[in-house]
Amino acid sequence: MTNDSGHDPATALIHHAYQPPAGFTAMQPAIHKASTVIFPDTAALRARNWKEKSGYTYGLHGTPTTFTLEERIATLEGGLQTLLLPSGLAAIALVDLALLASGDELLIPDNAYGPGKELARNELAKFGITHRFYDAMNAGSLAQAIGPRTRLVWLEAPGSVTMEFPDLAALVGAARDRGVTTALDNTWGAGIAFDAFDLPGGAAVDISMQALTKYPSGGGDVLMGSVTTRDEALHLKLKFTHMRIGFGVGANDAETLLRALPTLALRYAAQDQAARTLAEWLSQRSEIGRVLHPAIPGAPGFANWQATCRAAAGLFSVVFDARFTGEQVDAFVDALRLFRIGYSWAGPVSLVVPYRVQEMRSQPAPYAGIVVRFSIGFEAVEDLIADLQQALESAFGGI
Ligand SMILES: *Cc1c(COP(=O)(O)O)cnc(C)c1O
Repeated sequence: MTNDSGHDPATALIHHAYQPPAGFTAMQPAIHKASTVIFPDTAALRARNWKEKSGYTYGLHGTPTTFTLEERIATLEGGLQTLLLPSGLAAIALVDLALLASGDELLIPDNAYGPGKELARNELAKFGITHRFYDAMNAGSLAQAIGPRTRLVWLEAPGSVTMEFPDLAALVGAARDRGVTTALDNTWGAGIAFDAFDLPGGAAVDISMQALTKYPSGGGDVLMGSVTTRDEALHLKLKFTHMRIGFGVGANDAETLLRALPTLALRYAAQDQAARTLAEWLSQRSEIGRVLHPAIPGAPGFANWQATCRAAAGLFSVVFDARFTGEQVDAFVDALRLFRIGYSWAGPVSLVVPYRVQEMRSQPAPYAGIVVRFSIGFEAVEDLIADLQQALESAFGGI
């Protein structure tokens, strides 16, 4: 895998252009903090243009630290321009607010990240922006849903919690045929598993958004989002809204991300391998009806994953056998010791959340049993297997 620098991201994120201060030649970028940026004279004040990054104008519009992070995320994504936001959800909101106006319609996958759907249902609805859900596993369903008022289609791969991997190239094609902009929530792929701007058959999304909170951070200690494009006009449209709303990120958080990026590819590969081992172990257990991991043969969307990806995130779900009640599955989750109960993923600690999928979807829930999602951290795999085993035995006995 290569990007515009001609290198694999593992290499490109380490050997990335950076100009240290004179006489202090180090590869590690500095933390620059300021609201005010001083101009030497009025001519300089007038000459600097924040829109083109021709110089620094005000802390909110960027510092050397945030510009460096923007450039590295653009490199990671195979994009040309990146904007930073205070969370992944704020990045979704920026795309919606920049591209949609009263009377427009937005299409969202039914299995998308839940808070993005809540944003449409509540905030966007207040501005007269309507939305509909489509079945991401059926490009025909998207083609059918696109109407004369549709201006934006969100994509997500794989789907949230149920982990179906869609045919991204086909979905992008259906939107492009009708001249509709596509935005991908690329948090799971993180720029490592596949290239959002170079999909099978040469398809490309218009916008790739990430919760940097997850993989790029990897520490469970930063909230941040990014919006990346390859089109200057689209970037500027997003940037104007970004600037008018006043979205900014803290320099210390930006530096934490810069420090974490060089290990991104290694962390991604390690969590991928551990998650596949655990998913396969669970698939052999009689308590489990189905394992939902896009890279495991037989899982929903496996063929799409295979055609699109070279890796998978350390995240998967299982469907418990339908004979078990929600209370029994909760008892299993409560019996886990290393897996902690909590949202988010890609950090050092393995996490677990039980979901009532029926309540999360507009279309009928695809699975009868209770769904539990696991995010694999950096603990030793044998210890995680032992933890799953003791919790299964404690909740369900020796079935
Ligand atoms: C976590 C997440 C988000 C939101 O990111 P935050 O930084 O927590 O707001 C958006 N999309 C996906 C797929 C996520 O997993």
